Amino acid sequence: MNPLPTKGYGATGSFFSELKPLDFERKAPQADEILIDILYTGVCHSDLHQVKNDWGNTIYPCVPGHEIVGKVAQAGAAVTKFKVGDIVGVGCMIDSCGVCPSCAEGEQQYCEGPVSWTATYNGYMKPDGSGFNTFGGYSDKIVVKESFVLKIPATLDIKAAAPILCAGVTTYSPLRHWQVKAGDKVAVVGLGGLGHMGVQLAKAMGAAVTVITTSKEKQADAEKLGAHQVLFSEDTEAMQQHERAFDFILNTIPDAYDINDYISLLKRDGAVVAVGVLAPYKKPTNNMEVAMHRRTVAGSLIGSIQETQEVLDFCAEHQILPEVEIIPIQQINQAFKRMQQKEVHYRFVIDMQSLKEESN
Ligand code: NAP
Ligand code: ZN
Repeated sequence: MNPLPTKGYGATGSFFSELKPLDFERKAPQADEILIDILYTGVCHSDLHQVKNDWGNTIYPCVPGHEIVGKVAQAGAAVTKFKVGDIVGVGCMIDSCGVCPSCAEGEQQYCEGPVSWTATYNGYMKPDGSGFNTFGGYSDKIVVKESFVLKIPATLDIKAAAPILCAGVTTYSPLRHWQVKAGDKVAVVGLGGLGHMGVQLAKAMGAAVTVITTSKEKQADAEKLGAHQVLFSEDTEAMQQHERAFDFILNTIPDAYDINDYISLLKRDGAVVAVGVLAPYKKPTNNMEVAMHRRTVAGSLIGSIQETQEVLDFCAEHQILPEVEIIPIQQINQAFKRMQQKEVHYRFVIDMQSLKEESN
């Protein structure tokens, strides 16, 4: 079958990290694959990290985007769950080995197979630099295996739903794994894309949520999203007053920080889970503080396909929606800058119609 000409926006190198229009080809769908006409794509801070090669593993050209909502344009002969016209989602993964212990337990994001899981963009990257590239949702179409495609519940506003596919599941997965429950005291650090979903999800699970932020002006928004309290991380006295106050802390800060500032806020047996920076902390963990109160310092990576469907359904049930600012794709470079300056309230979503109009 002929490859499909595809329009997108991508970066050709970290030096030129501005995104520009980029034409490429996608393979036509196989029997178990779906061709999706992309309608909306969320802008995750990981997109920016990847474009800038912050993790040292970017394969160029890099077409980001792993919060994708679209319409099924074509379904392969063996596809059973979806039909042409369905509104569907694609998150951070498009494949995994399917047979390793993690995949067998439905935790594809921790795939232990020879090529691990395949990311929606930046493919699979081996430490030696080999691997293969994939192109994400800053484009007009994508082809994905049925088993990695999600159903978007009919009651979710499709303009706003896309961020659930990464920001939603990345915060939902640890909240579930660490069994956050009604009455727990939860802190969410960083009120950005992930943080604003974490607040709403933890609140819907019955937790009392505190937002810890560097941005005083976000107080009213935090409260509107469901926080019962807001702490400013630079207010040392207020932070000290909250030592041993929380059962669970979800930390979404994207740059290196001192994790010890948050460890001391945990109760005995509490856990701080870092979903933000994927690199060393600013200072080593002080294990005296960890051991003395049997605390846990952990990390967590996105969420499984099953959890992604669960969080979409959970958001529909609890009427949780990301707060989005819709932008045309031509504004993506400004959006990246504003995200870096903590000016996103709280997720940019690209209306892909803007790309189609550009192509005409
Ligand atoms: P975002 O929208 O930019 O939000 C991050 C928030 O963190 C900012 O709004 C700001 O909140 C706070 N912040 C930013 N820089 C800070 C600094 N230097 N010190 C303290 N606080 C700071 O980003 P996002 O899309 O939520 O992503 C957050 C991080 O999670 C990124 O690093 C991303 O790559 C990562 N991520 C990880 C996974 C995973 O699987 N583990 C999945 C998706 C994303 P305040 O203004 O409230 O302080
Ligand atoms: Zn993401």
